[in-house]
Amino acid sequence: MMDLHTHTRFSDGIGYIRDNIAEAEKKGLKIVGISDHVHFFTPHLLNSYLSLIDQAKKESEITVLAGIEANILPEGVDINDDFRKKLDYVIASVHLYFDLGRYDEYLELIKLALQDENIDIIGHFGNVFPYVGYPSIDEYKEIVELAEEHGKAFEISSRYRVPELDFIKLCIQKGVKLTFASDAHQPRDVGNISWSLKAFKKAGGKKEDLLFSELL
Ligand SMILES: [Zn+2]
Ligand SMILES: [Zn+2]
Repeated sequence: MMDLHTHTRFSDGIGYIRDNIAEAEKKGLKIVGISDHVHFFTPHLLNSYLSLIDQAKKESEITVLAGIEANILPEGVDINDDFRKKLDYVIASVHLYFDLGRYDEYLELIKLALQDENIDIIGHFGNVFPYVGYPSIDEYKEIVELAEEHGKAFEISSRYRVPELDFIKLCIQKGVKLTFASDAHQPRDVGNISWSLKAFKKAGGKKEDLLFSELL
């Protein structure tokens, strides 16, 4: 199995890269991704991060991927082409607050990210809906169609228990790829993806519906 969303001391996590990988190995994952928050990085720090991940790629018996979690902002996603080309994948997430009822503002930001060439995966889609309100199924369809058109994936987040089952089903129907995500901020949480796996199976997902399934 995979966990493509883990944090380390390079951003707001508490473990080292090697701790996350050791935990992933212990839990029997096949793929682990390191995905620290982009706004903690200078170009210099990114190079240190990448060289540690590269070293781990050589030493680990499982697949280690170099990712990052970028922020979807009203002016766009805060990742530049230079960072993008050095990474295996980029997650883009909304980390902003919205007024009650304004899930439409959230969806507009998601649409912006879906059209951004530097993005591969949308992080914890819908974690704000319990607070701002839920979109209709037609609005979900519009999002999934845009993702299909631009070849984007959505993560199934065990931390936030999102997206909703109906949304995951739409992704599978449309061939939009999915990933599993613990969003661990401490090594012991790496690989805690049981909610993701359960939701994926409930929605009828099969191995080929996962991003990087060729590595599983
Ligand atoms: Zn996030
Ligand atoms: Zn995160």
